[in-house]
Amino acid sequence: MKHVKKSQVKSAIVELDGDEMTRVLWAMVKEQLLFPFLDMDLDYYDLHVKHRDETGDQVTVDAARAVERHGVGVKCATITPNAARVEEYKLKKEWKSPNGTIRGILDGTVFRTPILVKNISPSVRNWTRPITIGRHAYGDLYKNSEIRVDGPGRAEIVFTPDRGAPVRKLIENFQGPGIVQGIHNTDASILSFARACFTYGLDQKMDVWFATKDTVSKTYDTRFKEIFEQEYEQNWKEKFRSLGLNYFYTLIDDAVARIMRSEGGMLWACKNYDGDVMSDMLASAFGSLALMTSVLVSPRRCFMYEAAHGTVQRHYYKYLEGEKTSTNPMALIFAWSSALKKRGELDGSPDVIRFGEALEDASRKTIEAGIMTGDLVKLVAPDEHRRQVDSEAFLAAIKTRLESKLMTS
Ligand code: NAP
Ligand code: MG
Repeated sequence: MKHVKKSQVKSAIVELDGDEMTRVLWAMVKEQLLFPFLDMDLDYYDLHVKHRDETGDQVTVDAARAVERHGVGVKCATITPNAARVEEYKLKKEWKSPNGTIRGILDGTVFRTPILVKNISPSVRNWTRPITIGRHAYGDLYKNSEIRVDGPGRAEIVFTPDRGAPVRKLIENFQGPGIVQGIHNTDASILSFARACFTYGLDQKMDVWFATKDTVSKTYDTRFKEIFEQEYEQNWKEKFRSLGLNYFYTLIDDAVARIMRSEGGMLWACKNYDGDVMSDMLASAFGSLALMTSVLVSPRRCFMYEAAHGTVQRHYYKYLEGEKTSTNPMALIFAWSSALKKRGELDGSPDVIRFGEALEDASRKTIEAGIMTGDLVKLVAPDEHRRQVDSEAFLAAIKTRLESKLMTS
């Protein structure tokens, strides 16, 4: 048998290990699909919930700083502790969501992209290319202040500057019971969001779409529109044009209608609420949460890749009982392949980029040959061949394809 020469990954990749079923799959992916083919230096951080607890969550902070230092990280899914988890793992407290902590340190925006395979068609027939959503993860509805109004009275919005006179505006003269809500955003956060979107769009060579309701919200939403426009004109337009790419702004309802009719392929920058709602719609229309990848892009040009799904707790309990589960490792594999491609690009290592592409291709082709995990079986068209396998057999099938690809290339 011909020997497959290992590729050398020049700089370190930061590895953030995680919890439950994804931790089990994570180790298998490395053992089966990475270590046999790559020499790499991993800066390892164990974000297992117990280890976060033991370190007072310092390990999460250290991991985020390492991603910032090295530029590329790859993260396994992690438990965000709630009361039940505190009990289950005997934790000192309900530690904050690791993703929230990391996002806070890297000041990043999360982009989600579906993995497309030929035998699973999106519910929207004309979507032949993936649609990526970038969700602004600060402010608006998610950091609001609300009042339930019991009866007649005057609701006002007041801003009291550190220096100068307060500004007030009438919201409503209530004649009876009702509700009031105050929301905000900051120029700094919107600008950082815009930069992350243009950075990622350029990086992935995708048009960037952005939409708000500026015709109705003439101050609030208009500010989002202005900041995006200014940032694009000043810092991105030439770079986008030189690659034949575009920035497209429209109203949110028009954007939704156009997205439904499009063939996909764009980065859709969404305000916080729009992104919350639309990313769930896209994930389900494209097939499965296990085929959704996610990347945190920091405006300081560092990237952390992960799966969009959680730790798949239900499967883990079965696994602990000794059952072989058919949990889908695709999004975890693509987190690694994307991190490797980015590392290869930053290091100028074309063979590492080619390895990342070969791994993705072998994974897709395995599903396209009808070999897949249980979650996908029901999504394949009725006349297509399919065979459900457990996670190990699925990874083994990918490995066989990967080996033969690397030997012939
Ligand atoms: P989840 O882990 O995403 O799983 C929800 C359900 O989706 C599973 O029970 C399974 O359905 C299906 N599923 C998700 N990923 C799958 C895969 N790879 N293969 C096959 N099926 C898959 O969400 P959860 O159960 O609500 O959350 C579990 C833990 O994950 C929680 O502690 C939460 O804090 C954490 N979480 C972490 C992240 C992150 O680190 N980024 C994100 C979300 C949640 P069936 O059971 O029907 O097979
Ligand atoms: Mg949601």
